[in-house]
Amino acid sequence: MDSSSLKKIIIIVICIAAALVVFAISRNSGSDVSDLKGQKIDVKCKACGAEYQMDLAEFYNFRRENADPAAQKVLLPPCQKCGKNAIDEKNLE
Ligand SMILES: [Zn+2]
Repeated sequence: MDSSSLKKIIIIVICIAAALVVFAISRNSGSDVSDLKGQKIDVKCKACGAEYQMDLAEFYNFRRENADPAAQKVLLPPCQKCGKNAIDEKNLE
């Protein structure tokens, strides 16, 4: 086996490992977003007290797009009423 085909194999193995890691992380962060279409969660704003429902798929998309692994905290979209980052999820498993 020459070194260039060995390199190709190493690259393929790294790609598979990366795919597995992404798969494991996305499974960990919740169900597939496509399954969440039409589902709602109740949220409450700690700043202004507003209570409303938001789309669960939207909620998870926000978390995925704004995920900060270093912060290790649950990210929530800003309040629809006052715009502050103070909403809390209600009744979410
Ligand atoms: Zn608010």
